[in-house]
Amino acid sequence: MTKKDPIENWKTLSLKQRKKSASFVINLNKNQKKAIADNIEDVHERVFERTDCLKCANCCTSIPPQISKLDVKRISKYLGLSEKQFLAEYTSVDSDGDLVFNQSPCRFLEKDNTCRIYEFRPKACRAFPHTDNDQFLNHLNLHKQNVQYCPAVYAILEEIQKRIKS
Ligand code: SF4
Ligand code: SF4
Repeated sequence: MTKKDPIENWKTLSLKQRKKSASFVINLNKNQKKAIADNIEDVHERVFERTDCLKCANCCTSIPPQISKLDVKRISKYLGLSEKQFLAEYTSVDSDGDLVFNQSPCRFLEKDNTCRIYEFRPKACRAFPHTDNDQFLNHLNLHKQNVQYCPAVYAILEEIQKRIKS
């Protein structure tokens, strides 16, 4: 696997190059899916060992996370707000009908790229970018979008593509 810093490498690429890295996920056959399932945990771990998310935070500045009822309960309690106050102040419903934070970049993102509500953050933030274990194969369409924003997704797609070819 290449030892390049995924964030610095991703910055050098055009949008077209980033999107191209995800094109192979469209027509995966059974054997390729099996090869992905066998390799993805290792690839995910190796890429994130080299990725300092505190130098990036693109997900927090570009993609408002979905928020569940449990997220609302947990975060509003932490902020000392009623659920109604929290919903009114921090959330909206997007064009897909999903509840999301109403501002992007996220209002909980601090200047040093840490998260002000890290321990209480939405489940969607914890799961992003959905490349761990069976998450990867269950979110193939999402990777095609996220590769535009997430350097780690790009690096994972590049590496997993090499492994299923070898
Ligand atoms: S809640 Fe935290 S992790 Fe989630 S988008 Fe906002 S700053 Fe990022
Ligand atoms: S966009 Fe990807 S690499 Fe950047 S902070 Fe989010 S998860 Fe980390």
